[in-house]
Amino acid sequence: MTDATGVPVAALGKKTVRDIDVSGKRVLVRADLNAPLREADGRVVVSDDARIAASVPTIELLRERGAKVIVCSHLGRPKDRDPKLSLAPVAERLGELLGTDLPLAPGLIGPEVEAMVAQLTDGDVLLLENSRYEAGETKNDPALAEQLAKLADIYVDDAFGACHRAHVTTEGVTHFVGTSVAGLLLEREVTTLRGIVESPEHPLVVVLGGAKVSDKVAVIDSFLKVADAILIGGAMCFSFFTAQGHATGNSLVEQEGIELARKALADAEQSGCRLVLPIDLKLGREFSADTEVQELDGVDVPDGWMGLDVGRKTYEAYAAEVKAARTAFWNGPMGAFELAPFAEGTRYVAQAFAEAPGVTVVGGGDSAAAIAEFGYADDVTHLSTGGGAALELIEGKLLPGVEALNDV
Ligand code: ADP
Ligand code: MG
Repeated sequence: MTDATGVPVAALGKKTVRDIDVSGKRVLVRADLNAPLREADGRVVVSDDARIAASVPTIELLRERGAKVIVCSHLGRPKDRDPKLSLAPVAERLGELLGTDLPLAPGLIGPEVEAMVAQLTDGDVLLLENSRYEAGETKNDPALAEQLAKLADIYVDDAFGACHRAHVTTEGVTHFVGTSVAGLLLEREVTTLRGIVESPEHPLVVVLGGAKVSDKVAVIDSFLKVADAILIGGAMCFSFFTAQGHATGNSLVEQEGIELARKALADAEQSGCRLVLPIDLKLGREFSADTEVQELDGVDVPDGWMGLDVGRKTYEAYAAEVKAARTAFWNGPMGAFELAPFAEGTRYVAQAFAEAPGVTVVGGGDSAAAIAEFGYADDVTHLSTGGGAALELIEGKLLPGVEALNDV
């Protein structure tokens, strides 16, 4: 099954915000407003509003349909009530995007919050303060969940980036409200990412990079069953090269990853999927932007050097595979892209995803940051807002925030 843009989609199996009557009801929306912040002129401001913008359609739909909308989210990992992690800058940005003044309640629960909710009229929106200011949030404390649930008649989960965690605002609260449904973003993320593994158009080409094999090994396992090729880059290729007996110099080698890499190579032999490794590299003396640089035709890294990016032959080959695919999925940078001399492989792959004629899906995390930084965010079919959640979904794991919703 595909949607209007040709993206393969899998059934959600859960009620969504479109299926229910919300008029005049108090609706608690769990959004993922966990946006990166920076300080400018002594003020904290949002530095990338992609997640905030992605949360807008569900909130707008609810307002149009006459709900009293109460939005909650976590932000960072605050110790106690660290004022630097207040949702105030997010309230400002979300208010701008919604075209309305968006009040921020002083907490997640309590009499003041209840009074503000009682003031809401149909179509109004209120944002609750950082859910992780409450110690019970990440412990999924039922007492906190019950208090939070008192604020609303209906719960909408739209926080894809947080739905792999069973916390009060993503899971616990559903035990105390009558109706719990998926928001538009959550629905799109889950159906698209599941669709990639369940019913992709072939050839399906998967590009995996990043730091560690252990982070991605379950994703490799999943794709070995369904993809036509998995192209490996990033530091994780050095665990594969070690397993194959190549020299790795001072490259970052995850020791635990070597055995996993050996097994993945063996599994690939038995599968219908090609597992492809780099054939050339870009080396540096150390992990630094002004280090001495050398190109290596081959993958045996000499002593005193470390592999920090894939080489030209490799990224050109990977880009060609991506462009020839009907479906392409990417997670994890090809090199240490934060360092300008080693960003080329990641940039080239990002550009291939932007230009590819097939369906292109990019997982969250650092690859999403990279594609945004290179200016290609709008040129892929789907850019996931969730890093860990996207990977767990592809691994075939059940996501607690999704499982807790009402079935269709
Ligand atoms: P993602 O968040 O997309 O899943 P990861 O967090 O696994 O990706 O990996 C991203 C990190 O991997 C980046 O900080 C990048 O610098 C690092 N990295 C990638 N390739 C290399 C390399 N060859 N050597 C050292 N670090 C690398
Ligand atoms: Mg990361």
